[in-house]
Amino acid sequence: MKENELETMRKSFKTANDRTNHIMKEPKSLELKEKVQNIRKDSINNNEELYKTACESFKRNGIDSFFASTIEDAQDKIVDLIKENAEDEDLSGVTVTKSKSNTLREIKIEDCLDEYGVNFLATDLGDRILQIKEGYNIPIHPTCPAAHLDVHEIANVINNSEMNVHVEDDAHEIMQAVKKDVLNQMKDSDVGISGANSIAAEDGSIILIHNEGNINHVISKKLHIVVAGIDKLVPSIEDAISVAKLETIYATGSHVTSYMNIVSGPSKTADIEKKLFKNMYGAEKVVVIFLDNGRSKAFNECLWCVGCGNCVTVCPVYNVIGSDFGYENYVGGRGVAFSDFIGDHDTSLKSGLFKCTLCGVCTENCPVSLPTNAIIEQLRANNNDLGIFLEPHSLIKDKIKDHNSPF
Ligand code: SF4
Repeated sequence: MKENELETMRKSFKTANDRTNHIMKEPKSLELKEKVQNIRKDSINNNEELYKTACESFKRNGIDSFFASTIEDAQDKIVDLIKENAEDEDLSGVTVTKSKSNTLREIKIEDCLDEYGVNFLATDLGDRILQIKEGYNIPIHPTCPAAHLDVHEIANVINNSEMNVHVEDDAHEIMQAVKKDVLNQMKDSDVGISGANSIAAEDGSIILIHNEGNINHVISKKLHIVVAGIDKLVPSIEDAISVAKLETIYATGSHVTSYMNIVSGPSKTADIEKKLFKNMYGAEKVVVIFLDNGRSKAFNECLWCVGCGNCVTVCPVYNVIGSDFGYENYVGGRGVAFSDFIGDHDTSLKSGLFKCTLCGVCTENCPVSLPTNAIIEQLRANNNDLGIFLEPHSLIKDKIKDHNSPF
């Protein structure tokens, strides 16, 4: 990352921390924190059971669900669904509308659909800015992906894009320009893809939270595809809402987001002669793809995460080097730990396994007290046993062996 981007990122994080610090300590928040910690721990411990329950509940609600072991499985399923919906093998010119989602980035669906000529349209403002910015752009924070770009740089991104507009260094003007362009492009789209903030297994419901209102559009397309990690499962809607509320508090410093969508089936009406029709205002077909991609072999603690991103705003390493500490869109220490499971041991080594200071500040500021430092220590030990470590460590080890001293 460039120094000016790091500087902007640090300023954005300071603003975020000023907002969250007070609300996190309110008695109501502390009560919710304790409740959600138990929900997340129990849910991960009972993940297999919840998965079975969710599949039955979705079936009952008219939602199709599939299990994807790998990224490729998920990609193939999505491509098949889009082809089926288009009733055509040729997908060039098809527009698919998407919401911001770490899981969608993880499965690299944009690159995959690009090969088919699909216009994959990000609707979240920060996500859209990164999408149209030249180069490979990693979101700097799970809920605020473009927090490292200042208004001047963002205006430049817009003015140099194919949007064919000129905006001043003015946040409101930029927002209006992007909104107009996205709304115009999504007019002809009848496929929406989203992630999920939480999934209620017993109710067969998908919970999505957002402030922009963009997800209202995404879930109203004829075909709504949800891609969610198997770790997103919790028992009930009440649990899922508790998780979403705590995530909101830690991510934004507010008690609730502007919108919370609960999708429990396709849109339907039987208002005329009691005859049932789907796709009234919302989706005709809802499909959930549960992604494993290494999660089932992950340490349970690593899956407690609710995705608020608060850990990276306080992390001393991340504040100095930014996204060089993390794995792709899974940023910071937790991202490094997670990468050992969704990638491999080498992935976590390259993502910064030895960059962590093990200070534990992230755990102190995490709504579920995820013990990132302890997980990283364990992974270092495991990798060391397998002979996976950094070259300088190997030199130090040899010196200690030969001279009883690292020097
Ligand atoms: S590890 Fe904790 S603080 Fe970090 S994103 Fe996950 S829940 Fe939030």
